[in-house]
Amino acid sequence: HFDVSPPWVERVLQRRPRQTVQAVDGVNFVIERGQTLALVGESGCGKSTVARLLVGLHRPSSGSVQFGGEDLSRVLAGPQRRLQMIFQDPYASLNPRWSVQSIVAEPLIEQGVERRPAALRERVGVLLASVGLAAADAGKFPHQFSGGQRQRISIARALATSPDFLVCDEPTSALDVSVQAQVLNLMKDLQRERGLTYLFISHNLAVVRHVADQVGVMYLGRLVELAPKRTLFGRPRHPYTRMLLDAVPDLQMSGRPRIPVQGEVPNPLQPPSGCSFHPRCPHADERCRRERPAWHAIDGIRVACHAVSEGRL
Ligand code: SF4
Ligand code: MG
Repeated sequence: HFDVSPPWVERVLQRRPRQTVQAVDGVNFVIERGQTLALVGESGCGKSTVARLLVGLHRPSSGSVQFGGEDLSRVLAGPQRRLQMIFQDPYASLNPRWSVQSIVAEPLIEQGVERRPAALRERVGVLLASVGLAAADAGKFPHQFSGGQRQRISIARALATSPDFLVCDEPTSALDVSVQAQVLNLMKDLQRERGLTYLFISHNLAVVRHVADQVGVMYLGRLVELAPKRTLFGRPRHPYTRMLLDAVPDLQMSGRPRIPVQGEVPNPLQPPSGCSFHPRCPHADERCRRERPAWHAIDGIRVACHAVSEGRL
């Protein structure tokens, strides 16, 4: 049981030229071992900040990040990296001057797991096989591979230290749709075989529906709804979740017309008062403009919306 627990990220400040913006605030969730929590939301909602906090690429300016009951900084300083990250752009995240052997072996060397060349070659061969690449690919360079193959190399590198937990930030969004499905299926197979836990960041609801067990919807740095996948797609509660789903009608196969997402994401430097979604929300009332909604548990989900907790939605 992975408890990324309260008080998890209380507040994170992202530095901008002369201003600071609170990128993520009070995001708490629990991910069961071996499961996938997907975080969705429009760009700028703070999903990537959460991902980067989890793997230690950002430090919280206050509050803490807990992983398995331990402070995350201690987990990350430990002998093996139990958390690893897979990035959106496999090309940018692979050093073009390094062979695949060097790329995949690097975390093993860096973590002091293995240094002997023959043993490293063998381990890299096994890792490449586990992601559907050939041992002979170890001698090649990133530019010799397709986008999907490069993402397989990133996955092999992430798996090198046998992590428990993978943070995947839009891992397939740079890939063609057919290749996307292959990489997602590979990730699901690896999850089953290795008991991996995933935090999966995506703006793509079709991808989320394919991979997630639980879905967290983020808006302006806050989690607004957290629900099992079937519940979220079958009965979205938060008006923002509804707006996202209405923009992709084939997800619900209801034959309804697509309703484009309405309005713009507000400037995070000047977040709206009360519920930050109120300028875009068709159900907003006076209380919504004044008071930030608290988490409300209902029918096995959590949602932060006055209209839901008041029973008018
Ligand atoms: Fe809309 Fe009010 Fe719910 Fe916010 S709290 S989502 S403004 S109904
Ligand atoms: Mg992002």
